[in-house]
Amino acid sequence: MTEVERLNYDVVVIGAGGAGLRAVIEARERGFSVAVVCKSLFGKAHTVMAEGGCAASMGNANSNDNWQVHFRDTMRGGKFLNNWRMAELHAREAPDRVWELETYGALFDRTADGRISQRNFGGHTYPRLAHVGDRTGLELIRTMQQKIVSLQQEDFKETGDYEARIKVFAECTITELLTDDGRISGAFGYWRESGRFILFETPAVVLATGGIGKSFKVTSNSWEYTGDGHALALRAGATLINMEFVQFHPTGMVWPPSVKGILVTEGVRGDGGVLKNTEDKRFMFEYVPDVFKGQYADSEEEADRWYTDQEKNRRTPDLLPRDEVARAINSEVKAGRGSPHGGVFLDIASRLPAEEIRKRLPSMYHQFKELADVDITKEPMEVGPTCHYVMGGIEVDPDTASSSVPGLFAAGECSGGMHGSNRLGGNSLSDLLVFGRRAGLGAASYVAELADRPKVSQSDVDAAATMALAPFDPPGDGVEENPYSLHTELQQSMNDLVGIIRKSEEIERALEKLGELRERIKRVTVEGHRQFNPGWHLAVDLRNMLMVSECVARAALTRTESRGGHTRDDHPGMDSQWRNKLLVCSAAPGENPVVPDIGIEVKEQLPLRQDLLELFELSELGKYYTDEELTSHPGSPA
Ligand code: FAD
Repeated sequence: MTEVERLNYDVVVIGAGGAGLRAVIEARERGFSVAVVCKSLFGKAHTVMAEGGCAASMGNANSNDNWQVHFRDTMRGGKFLNNWRMAELHAREAPDRVWELETYGALFDRTADGRISQRNFGGHTYPRLAHVGDRTGLELIRTMQQKIVSLQQEDFKETGDYEARIKVFAECTITELLTDDGRISGAFGYWRESGRFILFETPAVVLATGGIGKSFKVTSNSWEYTGDGHALALRAGATLINMEFVQFHPTGMVWPPSVKGILVTEGVRGDGGVLKNTEDKRFMFEYVPDVFKGQYADSEEEADRWYTDQEKNRRTPDLLPRDEVARAINSEVKAGRGSPHGGVFLDIASRLPAEEIRKRLPSMYHQFKELADVDITKEPMEVGPTCHYVMGGIEVDPDTASSSVPGLFAAGECSGGMHGSNRLGGNSLSDLLVFGRRAGLGAASYVAELADRPKVSQSDVDAAATMALAPFDPPGDGVEENPYSLHTELQQSMNDLVGIIRKSEEIERALEKLGELRERIKRVTVEGHRQFNPGWHLAVDLRNMLMVSECVARAALTRTESRGGHTRDDHPGMDSQWRNKLLVCSAAPGENPVVPDIGIEVKEQLPLRQDLLELFELSELGKYYTDEELTSHPGSPA
């Protein structure tokens, strides 16, 4: 029998980023015992890297802002494929969640009259991002950790044990979810340092594991983003939606090669930075798509006036939604007007005084100085698209964050629906707070109503252990595969064949490659022991990356249109017949237990609720919807 440390909790939260921590707080506040498990050190989740800010329509910078405007912007950004109920809850609740953070001890930057300051970001009608310089994610994590410590102190007073209701398991990777008659019964994993196994017996799991960027070669994401939550959910029987929509952030560093992909925050453009090609031309004016015509400035003068007077001027096209800007940069580079290292120029140096740049964008100043030897107060940056965020994720109920598997909840980047085909910048941090809270609440309510607790079966534990240890015990047919080589090949294929611009024949080649890798992974072999062994850790993660990559590629092949973070060269237009269709991925039991087959089904979403539909002009909806869908709009001809 496998040696396993066994623990019991009411709720297990996998992931200690913004979504996970907010879920922990909520489940604990409802009186339940919670374990929070994270792959890296506590406090080093991806959320910490968020720079620009957290979108919430507080109306501090412009009193015309409100949840309806935020809702409209989010739906437009997602090209109306968003789960509208999630977009509604998000827009309504984000301001309260930001205020609540201040009650935990956060301190956002202030306006001159003492209100929370809000900055401009792409696709947001008004300045809306609450921020702390360009280190907003750090403040989110810091204050939620502080709140957790204060809850632990309360627990100590009551029980004499700080960890009576919240315990952190850092550097611990979950490799499998266990079920009992279809309901969640536990989570199985290993301590990264010792390699020893650990089993959480629990009726409720909240997945908050973040994204999938490490399946692509050029990415702003760190080593943790291997799509674990997506794959764990699939293997437990849940479904994923919107996996074809991957956000390529327009501005990643392109030089030197060692830092290619690292993010250059949209805050640079929000604070006045502009994109230019080698001809020193502000090219974004050439790339305003029809659906946004009339909403953006058509001259440099108007665009520049907009930064100080948003009532009388239209916003700069440098701040179009990210998918549009990324495609524009791609086209400029392809047309031979790119910068020396294959990007374009982002100029803030000629736009703001040096002192102001250092004050508003301290991290960017240091990032370029230290990594590229570029002084952004004197020279333009070189930037290009980088894989940044996955809109696709676990299909959840908007109100409770529950998946189709009883006891399994998801929030944050690993969940799907909220952002439709393209996320607006700043909408992730607010998403984490709104839906992290709802997932914690959903899990707590589920546990409170349970008549009996599901049981973990020993055979499931043994199977999970055998699967995790497989790379130490290859088939022995003389062929051994190296996890690092497989990972590099996967990243290269996804980047080249299912990247920012896609076409059917290339996606099919990617699927062939994925098929080959799924066979080769059975022979992945690692040297050494279980004690801190990065090769083994990667071998375990590779399974997940292959599964989510297959979802991305299959969904990308099926969707024969271009929308948001999915651009098909062979189907360049947006097709209103596709607008309301979701591609739902599930894991099918196949012949390969290591990486199960992926099935795809087309599903229609619920029609937009009437009062929300009426928030838009008929003329705008007509650009996205079919005529039949719009017959109930008051502006529609009878
Ligand atoms: P994360 O914060 O990534 O946390 C994931 C957690 O899951 C980690 O603790 C990880 O260790 C854990 N985990 C993963 N797999 C396992 C496993 N198998 N077992 C155990 N633990 C596991 N969004 C904005 O709204 N505004 C911004 O300004 C902004 N800036 C960004 C800048 C950068 C450089 C990047 C990369 C992203 C930015 N984003 C921004 C996006 C945003 O930061 C992320 O989408 C968000 O932080 C994701 O949060 P999360 O809680 O879902 O996951």
